[in-house]
Amino acid sequence: MTRYDLRFAGLLAAAVIVIGLGLGYGIGWLTRPGVPAPQAAPRGDVTFYPGARQDANKPTGRIPGYGDVYVNDYADLLDAAAEARIRADMIELYDHTGIEMTVLTIPALADFGHAGPIEPFATRLFNTWGIGNAASNDGVLVLVARGDRRMRIEIGAGYARSWDARMQRVIDDAFLPAFREDRYQQGIEAGVDETIFELTGAYPGEYGAGTLKRGIGRIWRAAGEHLLVALGLLGAAFGGVIAAIRRHFRNRPRRCARCGTLMTRADEEADDAHLDGGQRLEEFLHSVDYDVWHCPNTECGHMEITRHPAWFSSHGACPQCHYRTLSTTTEILERATTSSTGRKRVTYDCRNCPYHDTEDRTIPKKAKSSSGSSRSSFGGGSSSGGGASGSW
Ligand SMILES: [Zn+2]
Ligand SMILES: [Zn+2]
Repeated sequence: MTRYDLRFAGLLAAAVIVIGLGLGYGIGWLTRPGVPAPQAAPRGDVTFYPGARQDANKPTGRIPGYGDVYVNDYADLLDAAAEARIRADMIELYDHTGIEMTVLTIPALADFGHAGPIEPFATRLFNTWGIGNAASNDGVLVLVARGDRRMRIEIGAGYARSWDARMQRVIDDAFLPAFREDRYQQGIEAGVDETIFELTGAYPGEYGAGTLKRGIGRIWRAAGEHLLVALGLLGAAFGGVIAAIRRHFRNRPRRCARCGTLMTRADEEADDAHLDGGQRLEEFLHSVDYDVWHCPNTECGHMEITRHPAWFSSHGACPQCHYRTLSTTTEILERATTSSTGRKRVTYDCRNCPYHDTEDRTIPKKAKSSSGSSRSSFGGGSSSGGGASGSW
């Protein structure tokens, strides 16, 4: 090892320590306990709820209407992306099993003139909306009353009593831990996933998936998004280390292969005099960089040219002259639709030699979007009060 190598090893070790500390801090920051969100302001009236049903004869209050059969986030606990993910999960569940599942969050039961426990409110709402298929009564309602710090999973009359305990486990294990830290969005997403797993034996996105894929999906789910972020950081750090190693070996002092004298590297302009036209063009296109090393021993005068291809380049290797000077352009001849394939023409031109080629390729059909998403009302199902509740 030369002194240059030792210095490099020291720098590398320092970089690894800094990256490790940064990663640790990053993960710590990402997994910090949730900051409690400000309490929703009490609302004087509830007329903004779509179709809120007023029933003067019932002292128990009103039932909110729904604007959507999948998610109604009246307490504003979900951001737009989470709401879209949950909606997609509900649509997928319906497409695969016919189960109508819906998520409703409300600021408080009192907003609907309801005092007392959440259970009668949930049952009445379930039956007013008519959640689930009317014949099989397999609907599922997830209701979160944020201000009351109470929730309920109400299930249709088609589920046997044994399902109550299963729903209780989902509430206790998946919803409540995050709710206790005021992380409502995470709790609802985890809870919805777990409810769907309890209902179908598969997590969202895993219907009909193989055992291995399901297993990997499960590990992924358990590790959560933090693992993804950590892997991303690790990948970036790793890339940086690899780049440093490459640079090290490129800049490392080298000895003349003939006489053993330490060689000197020519600067970029002096390089060009020793490169041929194709090599100069590669440098111009930034697809390859060349270093020219000279032996300062005048009796030897040996010269070495080292080649360093760029990691990312829009130019490929030319099949004719073999320089990395081949450009590719793509022209769409016919766009693909959901019913027909498209065509595109790919043209190859070498910037260094007369090589020219074209080929026509097929563009695959566009994927159809999910089919059941046009549902706009519930199937008329009913509940006889089955399900489970939780508070935090
Ligand atoms: Zn030499
Ligand atoms: Zn060429």
